[in-house]
Amino acid sequence: MKNNVWLQRFGKRRQSAEQSAHKFAALYKVGTALSSELDEKKLLYLIAETACKLTGAEMAAFTLRPLNEFGQPITPATGNPFYLAAVVGVSPQQEHFFQQMSFKGEGLLAPIFWEGVPVRIADVLAHTHAFGVHHHDMSPERIKAARQAALDYAQGRITKEKLLSVGVPENHPVVRSFLGVPLLDRSSVVRGGLLLGRSVPDHFTEEDEALLLGLGTQAAIALDNARLYHSAYIHALETDAIFEHIADGVMLMDVNGCILRENQAARHIRELLQDEQNHRQEITALLAGPIQSATTERRDLNFTVTAVVNTSSNEVREYMVNVSPLHLPKASIVPMHPRNRTTMEEQSLMASGAVVVWHDVTETRRLMAYAEAEQLKDEFITIAAHELRTPLAVLKGFAQTLLVQTARGKGAELAEWQVEALQNIDQATSRMVDLASDLLDVARLQAGSLLLHFEPVDLIALLKRVVTRLQVTTECHTLTLHIFTDHFVVDIDQQRIEQVLTNIIGNAIKYSPLGGVIQIDVDAQQQNTVLVSVKDTGIGIPEQQQGQIFGRFMRADNALNEGIAGTGLGLYLCRELVERHGGHTWFESMEGEGSTFYLSFPVSSSQKAVASAELSLS
Ligand code: ADP
Repeated sequence: MKNNVWLQRFGKRRQSAEQSAHKFAALYKVGTALSSELDEKKLLYLIAETACKLTGAEMAAFTLRPLNEFGQPITPATGNPFYLAAVVGVSPQQEHFFQQMSFKGEGLLAPIFWEGVPVRIADVLAHTHAFGVHHHDMSPERIKAARQAALDYAQGRITKEKLLSVGVPENHPVVRSFLGVPLLDRSSVVRGGLLLGRSVPDHFTEEDEALLLGLGTQAAIALDNARLYHSAYIHALETDAIFEHIADGVMLMDVNGCILRENQAARHIRELLQDEQNHRQEITALLAGPIQSATTERRDLNFTVTAVVNTSSNEVREYMVNVSPLHLPKASIVPMHPRNRTTMEEQSLMASGAVVVWHDVTETRRLMAYAEAEQLKDEFITIAAHELRTPLAVLKGFAQTLLVQTARGKGAELAEWQVEALQNIDQATSRMVDLASDLLDVARLQAGSLLLHFEPVDLIALLKRVVTRLQVTTECHTLTLHIFTDHFVVDIDQQRIEQVLTNIIGNAIKYSPLGGVIQIDVDAQQQNTVLVSVKDTGIGIPEQQQGQIFGRFMRADNALNEGIAGTGLGLYLCRELVERHGGHTWFESMEGEGSTFYLSFPVSSSQKAVASAELSLS
């Protein structure tokens, strides 16, 4: 009899020892599976299912804390601090219910979520019976009491039995035995909770608790690994995408000159160069020396490569090539034999090959050549215009002397045709003098060497002078000047603004070949701005050319067709000069009906007041 009891006891012990061994073997197996699974969703289900299998739970819910971009757990300002990541052993309706549930970490769950301690309850109903089985009482007093109980439990002041539950919500699967463990990461921070339930009381054992804790730790590490793997993977994708899309061609080459990696631009360059016969050879031959030097001498090398990339169009491209030694820890390329192992410092200094960067400088060179040519052209214009001024002045001087002195009766009388010829010489020389001086101004503006001399000038007096001077040059035009005041002082370069006004009013006369009224208005409607407008009824400017009319050497088709002489430099100079005064130039025009040009200048109010006072005193 005694023997029988002993045998029975021994049999039971052996059975439970076998069960434990079986459970730990299963845990070990799942541990291996966990460490190799990198898909987070699959991992979560694997863990939940394993937890059920190991402990005989009917259902398992996996809750996690949201993470920030650096993988650290965060407590969202609104919503729940935990979310349901996976649930197993429930019906689809119940799963839906779980998705809607809020995981605030109250009551029995609080010690798990907030204190990182496991909770194993023999019968959940024992803690909720006062409130009804499926009723869930979330009154503030009850929640407060549950929180306090959770804290007391976590700090060892009360036993598990004294923990309070805030109830099992309606539609929740019946749970009487409850086992919940925290998921603690490497730094013991609670990442989530693994919650198990069974509909009968007294199910989970101390061993289950230990087992689940172990699983929880493995799960947290596995999740961390999955996240790290995922972020490393994303990072690698990003780096690849950046590498691929670098505008310069980048090649990673080993010491023997073999291409280990190259980006899109490098492939394109290689293909371009290979279109030529034997260029493959050439690239390797071309880079062999520099790679050798870069890797052995550990220094950067720069050189240029010029190649015809398209024989049919004779397209030549020029590349600036930079070869620099590539330092990689040798272990990251070739597994090292322990005998050859060097220190980490030495490893990180080892040059494993070279980075070759191909920078296409064709356009830059072209632009530089263009800029150089432009500069040469400007220099030439400056010199030519400058050198022309003296002989032109001599020519004009003698033509005028001949005309004037002969008219005064000095020397032999000139025939009519001779007088006409001299007048033509005089006019043509005047035009050439104007052209030379405009060209000089353009060159100075381009070079930034045109200096303005600002001084207070009475704009009304200046306008009157220009209008009077130009009125005598024409009989078929009537120049009218409308002023709003007798004096208006502005701070300008008198000579330059006179040049602008002369050009604009002169154009109005020139491009109104049939004559007519030229109306000049000066107004200071807007505060601190004075506006001058010049309106004519001439040929106007064709609409499609209006956008370019302020360009250098720009002349409208109708002006050319009418045979009106000009250089196309005046308006360019006007706009530049006005803008250097801080003002603006614009126009309105209708072909065949006429144009109105506007000039606006800023006026400083103090300047205006001072100058007006000076004028009224004088
Ligand atoms: P230019 O008169 O020497 O040709 P501008 O630079 O002063 O040079 O003028 C550029 C072009 O703008 C002129 O050739 C002409 O086609 C057009 N233009 C300028 N002013 C007028 C105007 N008042 N009416 C019609 N066309 C004009």
